[in-house]
Amino acid sequence: MTDTPPENLELLYEGKAKKVYQTELPYEVLVWFKDDATAFNGAKKGQIHSKGLLNNAISSLFFELLDSRGVKSHYIRKVDDRSMLVKKLKIIQIEVVVRNIAAGSLSQRLGLPEGRVLAHPVVEFYYKDDSLGDPLINNSHISVLSLATPEDLKYLTEQSLLVNSILKEHLLARKIKLVDFKLEYGFSDKEILLGDEISPDTCRFWDYDTNEKLDKDRFRRDLGNVEEAYQQLYDRLKG
Ligand code: UDP
Repeated sequence: MTDTPPENLELLYEGKAKKVYQTELPYEVLVWFKDDATAFNGAKKGQIHSKGLLNNAISSLFFELLDSRGVKSHYIRKVDDRSMLVKKLKIIQIEVVVRNIAAGSLSQRLGLPEGRVLAHPVVEFYYKDDSLGDPLINNSHISVLSLATPEDLKYLTEQSLLVNSILKEHLLARKIKLVDFKLEYGFSDKEILLGDEISPDTCRFWDYDTNEKLDKDRFRRDLGNVEEAYQQLYDRLKG
């Protein structure tokens, strides 16, 4: 039975969409994906049937693709329908967002119409702090808050752009546009690894021909057919 969280493992942390459990090995944790959905920093709450299964499957596919292209992540293996085994990380409190097409907060902030193709990918940093609403920050803020060294920030930027080019190409071959996405990183010993998840909860995916949204904007904006969109994305990635 994989539809209930493990009872035998110690719960380390419960987030909005995932639970993290300690395994018998100190450096490995189990990530268990929930069906809970939140938006607008937790102000909107709901459930998306089967979301946990689909995000676990989609994230696993993406981490395996990135691994095959030399991007180091926390991912070890998919364990069952709802969970994956990953390396335990000390999370860097920065969310890295990469954008190829204007949408969401970028459109609002800069007055760019949604769908405007950007001349080159835009990389942004947000301070990972729910109580502050994850504010946009720059290199100077990152330095003053001691969130990362300039060298580490350069690495996060370069890695995120590499992830962008790998995912963008992979999705384009499946007639899907990668609009934007958010990444998180952490330390495993002295090494920085890509962490968290890569899923329709954390990325914007649009159908190439119709611009139909295949991501969490369907939930955020009450567009309906949320589960169907996640399922369609998974089917097209697998196919
Ligand atoms: N994103 C995320 N978690 C957040 C904020 C954003 O995963 O806490 C993702 C979001 O799904 C999108 C990208 O980062 O793919 C850019 O989001 P944006 O800044 O446009 O914010 P939004 O409009 O979603 O509030």
